[in-house]
Amino acid sequence: MKQFTYIRATSVDDAVAACAAHRDAKFLGGGTNLVDLMKMGVEQPLHVIDITRVPLNKIEEHAGGVRIGALVPNSDAANHALIRERYPVLTEALLAGASPQLRNMATMGGNLMQRTRCYYFYDPTYAECNKRVPGSGCAALLGVNRLHAILGASPACIATHPSDMCVALAALEAVVQVQGPRGPRSIPMAEFHRLPGNTPQIDTNLQPGEMITAIDLPGLTFGRRAHYLKVRDRNSYAFALVSVAAVLDLDNQGTIREARIALGGVAHKPWRVPAAERSLQGQKAGEAAYTAAARRILAGAKGYSGNSFKIPLAERAIVRALNVAASKQV
Ligand code: SF4
Repeated sequence: MKQFTYIRATSVDDAVAACAAHRDAKFLGGGTNLVDLMKMGVEQPLHVIDITRVPLNKIEEHAGGVRIGALVPNSDAANHALIRERYPVLTEALLAGASPQLRNMATMGGNLMQRTRCYYFYDPTYAECNKRVPGSGCAALLGVNRLHAILGASPACIATHPSDMCVALAALEAVVQVQGPRGPRSIPMAEFHRLPGNTPQIDTNLQPGEMITAIDLPGLTFGRRAHYLKVRDRNSYAFALVSVAAVLDLDNQGTIREARIALGGVAHKPWRVPAAERSLQGQKAGEAAYTAAARRILAGAKGYSGNSFKIPLAERAIVRALNVAASKQV
């Protein structure tokens, strides 16, 4: 591992100031992704700012919804009464991720910052990876790409975002609170992560020196009719081939008032198609409507040598997730 200086911050202001004062610094929370990447030589920060003593570990009611501090462990958020009661799709998504040990260490802010699990990105012996070495090419285009994107990819990168949590946050229209050298600002989930385009090395729309302080979940009257479905190669400790966060608002006759559908494992960011969700409004809940919406979401999907199976798999997963969500008693 390349040598770095270690700085401990005890407040948000300290952490932001330390980052502004040191070129090429990274914030360290649970370290479940960053430390691995540093050991492999993929991330080589000159300075590591430990933010684990910064008091950002509360879950509390806020503005009609719930605010989750950036340093709350994934396991605490998953099991908190407010989250279980009001946003069960987030609990399901968090518990589908990683392993119990990792969920105890990983923070909510760190989960947002997870980097892709593309094999070529993690292995510096491969020369071609535009995300690791901009301009070097993309080994996955003609290589092993079973886990890779079918939507929103570019010739520069076909990686997927690995998080389960972020898929649920997208469906819930969460807002990420950050603080940086220019003060605090809010970033809607839909704008937090980026598509690869020509700059796949940049995963998010955070500005230099900005630190995540909290995740806000808006008040939602229909959050209980929801389901997170994760399809993966084994039933535990595996990244999603395809995942779906589905949230439905139905009236007493079973007509859809509102639908939220976010996909994971298929793109460089959680994938939503608002027009497809709107097309469900006023329709009778059922497979015909769900299938039409799924096809609309997947219009334009493109498979590569090893992952074309994801297109029909995603269609079936969307229908199943909506069916399960609709069956929930609220
Ligand atoms: Fe690198 Fe992206 Fe290509 Fe993977 S898909 S090798 S992360 S450029």
